Amino acid sequence: MGQIIVLDQNMVNMIAAGEVIERPASVVKELMENSIDAGATKITVSIEDGGRKLISVADDGCGMDGEDLARAFESHTTSKIKTSADLHGISTLGFRGEALASIASVAQVRAVSRTKDSTEANCIEIDCGTKSSVSPCSADSGTTIQVRDLFYKLPARRKFLKTANTEMSHTIEQFTRAALGCYSTSEPILNGLQERDRPSLKTPSVVSRNLDLTLIHNGRELYRLSGKQGLRQGIAELFPMLPIGACEDFIEAESNERGLRILALLGKPSTSRTSNKFQYIFLNGRFIRDKFISHAIKEAYRGFLEPDRFPVVFLFIGMPYEDYDVNVHPTKIEVRFYNANLVYSQVLACLREKLLSTNLETHAKLPAAANLPAKDSTSAVSHRDQRITDAIAEFLKRHRPAQTQQAGPALEERFPVVHTGARSVRTSLPDFRGQAAESGAGYPVSKTGAGQEKFLQIHDSFIVTQTDDGFVIIDQHALHERIIYEHLCKRISAGKLESQKLLVPESFVLTAGQADVIGDNAELFEKLGIELVSFGPRTMAIQAFPALLANVAPIDFVQDLIDLLDRKDTGFDTERLLEEVLNMAACKAAVKAGQRLSDSEIEQLLADKEHIGSASRCPHGRPTTIKFSISDLERQFKRT
Ligand code: ADP
Ligand code: MG
Repeated sequence: MGQIIVLDQNMVNMIAAGEVIERPASVVKELMENSIDAGATKITVSIEDGGRKLISVADDGCGMDGEDLARAFESHTTSKIKTSADLHGISTLGFRGEALASIASVAQVRAVSRTKDSTEANCIEIDCGTKSSVSPCSADSGTTIQVRDLFYKLPARRKFLKTANTEMSHTIEQFTRAALGCYSTSEPILNGLQERDRPSLKTPSVVSRNLDLTLIHNGRELYRLSGKQGLRQGIAELFPMLPIGACEDFIEAESNERGLRILALLGKPSTSRTSNKFQYIFLNGRFIRDKFISHAIKEAYRGFLEPDRFPVVFLFIGMPYEDYDVNVHPTKIEVRFYNANLVYSQVLACLREKLLSTNLETHAKLPAAANLPAKDSTSAVSHRDQRITDAIAEFLKRHRPAQTQQAGPALEERFPVVHTGARSVRTSLPDFRGQAAESGAGYPVSKTGAGQEKFLQIHDSFIVTQTDDGFVIIDQHALHERIIYEHLCKRISAGKLESQKLLVPESFVLTAGQADVIGDNAELFEKLGIELVSFGPRTMAIQAFPALLANVAPIDFVQDLIDLLDRKDTGFDTERLLEEVLNMAACKAAVKAGQRLSDSEIEQLLADKEHIGSASRCPHGRPTTIKFSISDLERQFKRT
């Protein structure tokens, strides 16, 4: 007798679900895509217990009538394609007609829907493939689909689900992709690109998404994005982990040639990351992964980044639907371009040209004589500029070759040395080459270090030191932070941080939520060399603390760490989280701006600088060092 049987429809759906529905985030992706395809202007995603308990997606889209509502959960049912010809020009996110059937075969689903022109809503319930009949109910127009107890009849798959936090980080990723994708689905973004007369590409209205999106976890609102937000603002909200100011700093590249419209926001090299997780590529609103395009991005940044760094890039490509095939991957994350070379070369050219024509170096601009200080003294940036200007001026005063010393007044005009606010600067000009700073007065350090290195600490914040072809100004905090960060990374990658027992354990009180955070991140605490013991239900004590952070207060650090883990609980994977934690540790352990350093401390700092790989930037990507070349100075002094 034959061994082969025909699987029943529910088995077929369950098998299909294995491909499409891997975890709660896959359900969120499919349901959000359906809502977007239904023309929603508002989508609310509510999750409970990382999606194990409940995933609910509510929209105000076109809705379904009773007949469609029942049919939508059958396999291979779709309103998006009809004939094979339609497969060659898919403009919707979905088209395979199997998401709802798959979801309903592995969970308890309740769907309520009402079309815009109907006064009554309909409701259907499906329990792992077993359907109820459609019944009328009352609801607003639109569709709400609730998915409970995912995989509850498939214990092996349910067991495979990770902690609520990890599952939520996957859901947030899908939410982020859906949110960003909408910026490019709408025609305005593409038409907008052709409007040469608009004031600036930064104008957010040009790429407005027109879709309000909310994500809630266990009753807590994680994201609320307004449809009126511009792209940069949207990115800033979706990626709070990017350095402050990174979004305003994005370089905008655009092109519209040979049937391909490209809009890209390019992160400066200073915001580069250790992985390509912050590269988002959208094709007509669909988030895709494409190794050719990733390669084009890498090539575009060649020479701007170290080989193991990845730029932050948001790339939106618009092209005719007929020019590629989406029907190559069950989750539609990969596409096949009919002319992949064209896509590659257009993306590369657009990005590369823009990067080459943008000044990306952190190179000091010496102030022009005419428009010197009069800056807004309340602005942090201008205050910093001012301090750098002062530093240059002070350095020059001390280090001026004999012939220019006569030009005293002119120099004073160029650099506002004497009148820089709280701390008055000494006006006498000690001979810098004679080293020894006058003790007590003015600036503390001015000497030749061990390696014949001249240095000077100014405003207890910056170190000025001579190089072969000029001089550099070092931000002492940023450099020290980088050095510590490198040490931490080295130790962590070798295993864990060495810890030191505290003489007296330091105890602190915490909430139940914070205790959960510690429990969820036990491995991380262990890796960091932080030993905690419980002293009763609400109290914990720190018994051991990393030796590398010896000058950081253990309690402050642990509390900040818990806050960080709590705040970022859902938005980070392990690698990103560790990077963030090490950043925080380095920042806390580093010397601060405003802290006076001894000669030997400065010497140590300069010596360490030579030994670390990427000393030119702090872990947040800000420069640690700004270079000034003698030729720049000579030009400014009109000596050439
Ligand atoms: P696909 O999206 O590939 O067509 P699905 O199984 O995801 O397949 O959905 C089946 C059909 O159900 C869709 O084609 C659409 O007509 C309808 N549908 C699903 N979700 C919604 C929604 N949120 N609003 C309106 N119609 C929907
Ligand atoms: Mg779908």
